[in-house]
Amino acid sequence: EIGKPLMLSPRTNKGMAFTLQERQILGLHGLLPPKIETQEIQAMRFKQNLKKIGDPLTKYVYVMGIQERNEKLFYRVLLDNIEELLPIVYTPTVGLACLQYGHIFRRPKGVFISIMDKGHVRSILDNWPDTNVKAVVVTDGERILGLGDLGVYGMGIPVGKMCLYTTCAGIDPHSCLPVCIDVGTDNEMLLKDPFYMGLYQKRDRSQHYDELIDEFMEAIVNKYGRNTLIQFEDFGNQNAFRFLRKYQNKYCTFNDDIQGTAAVALAGLLSAQRVINKPLGDHKFLFLGAGEAALGIADLIVLAMKETGISEEEAQKKIWMFDKYGLLYQGRSEPTDKHQQPYVHTAPDQKIETFLDAVNTLQPTAIIGVAGAGRLFSKEVINAMGRMNERPIIFALSNPTDKAECTAEDAYNLTEGRCLFASGSPFDPVTLADGRVFQPGQGNNAYIFPGVALAVILVGVRTISSHVFLTAAKALAEQVTNDELTQGRLYPPLSQIRKVSIHTAAKVAEYLYANGMAFEFPEPEDKEKYFLSKVWKTDYESFLPDVYNWSESATRLP
Ligand code: NAP
Ligand code: MN
Repeated sequence: EIGKPLMLSPRTNKGMAFTLQERQILGLHGLLPPKIETQEIQAMRFKQNLKKIGDPLTKYVYVMGIQERNEKLFYRVLLDNIEELLPIVYTPTVGLACLQYGHIFRRPKGVFISIMDKGHVRSILDNWPDTNVKAVVVTDGERILGLGDLGVYGMGIPVGKMCLYTTCAGIDPHSCLPVCIDVGTDNEMLLKDPFYMGLYQKRDRSQHYDELIDEFMEAIVNKYGRNTLIQFEDFGNQNAFRFLRKYQNKYCTFNDDIQGTAAVALAGLLSAQRVINKPLGDHKFLFLGAGEAALGIADLIVLAMKETGISEEEAQKKIWMFDKYGLLYQGRSEPTDKHQQPYVHTAPDQKIETFLDAVNTLQPTAIIGVAGAGRLFSKEVINAMGRMNERPIIFALSNPTDKAECTAEDAYNLTEGRCLFASGSPFDPVTLADGRVFQPGQGNNAYIFPGVALAVILVGVRTISSHVFLTAAKALAEQVTNDELTQGRLYPPLSQIRKVSIHTAAKVAEYLYANGMAFEFPEPEDKEKYFLSKVWKTDYESFLPDVYNWSESATRLP
């Protein structure tokens, strides 16, 4: 392609960074201001403009607009300013963006497949311009962050996640495909919203839905190959577990809300264990929430404990859960489902009504909030944790920020800085009255899924086992320095995320090769170096043809 289309495609556009020769040869000359600009200056302008914007949602619109115009610049600025921009392209701001998706929508990114398209999924995929897809992130929009059913507005999530594939792990954006499945929405507000962008119907929960997802899975591997990674994201609880069970041994797939969350939370616990010198098996865990995140985390904790020689039953006994109806125990009147059974124990003698009762009676060493229901770690709960434990573990993982079970400030203040805290959405550092400063850990799934995805894509796996996530969790926890641990950090700084993801990917790859689960040969010896060599570059490429001379005599009659 030459001329204006080069500038109109975000993939090839360099703006004023097209060189003079490129402008002349490619038919762009005069279509740009005379100045030849570097990407540095462009990045500076981008940052300057961003600084002027106060409102996070406006920032989101601006940043995603750059993605639509100049991809290389977008990813460069994202990586250079990851601490500032991750909360924009991902939680919490992406949540606001999804709530308003129909209002801020500019250009589609990714593929929309509706229940009306059943039987025609393949022809939709054939419309997607990239044929070299290696990874898919798919949502049906039913449980977007802790915001509930947002239907097609949930597309912001796969789009944001795929941005992190590239930013965090250097995965080529053109091998990434965000997908939104539209089977309707049960969100009454959206069904009345004139700007809504999906089908105006209630969610199809019939056999047709399952058949559509089946067809989708088959169409993906048919078109792009059996080891195409398919990441499930923000499906409702029942479907998330159902599809994971159904597909995990058949496709190269995982559910980030269950398994990715599990790994990032376990990594936080392993870091905490380094600080307080208390093995995982000596803890007692109490979850607030008993859904995808809670069960994913609990199952991975059990797997980790089993590795240290504790039996499965014994490990499960150390984990309790508290949901909307109260503590899960045997014989309670409200139902519990089958994934929860390992954590449904004999009722304690005392009557437990509130979460505070549960804390006081069970005396946990760690509380993990994943209910998506707001500030339920009350001052009393945090105080009780501080009273019972020298170093209480308090994780408030629900997203976005206003759903977090408590603030970092409360957690540190009420425990005189003794707690080990992590949250799902970012909190600012906390300064105590005595001047000590704590850096709250952000248990962001972005520490896990991009690295896992990189490993999975590059070493060629057929299915993804829970051990992959256990390996990733350990690899992440090992990368926190002792210095960082003393500042209260349970995770490496986000600014290091590229390095961290690649290292994690290398550890996961080692595990996969060692256990005969990798099928890409030859096995790279130095995996970190190999992955680094595969990183998608944000530097502009030259569009000039390879112009050179032959020796003058070569084509002359001698
Ligand atoms: P989910 O499967 O819907 O589970 C939510 C659980 O919380 C259910 O067990 C629900 O009980 C329970 N619950 C709801 N309201 C409650 C209340 N008032 N008191 C006690 N329990 C209550 O959702 P999920 O996937 O686990 O996600 C939950 C939250 O975790 C979301 O906010 C999400 O953003 C967050 N999350 C964070 C991370 C991270 O930080 N890295 C990762 C994933 C998810 P019922 O079943 O009885 O309704
Ligand atoms: Mn999610």
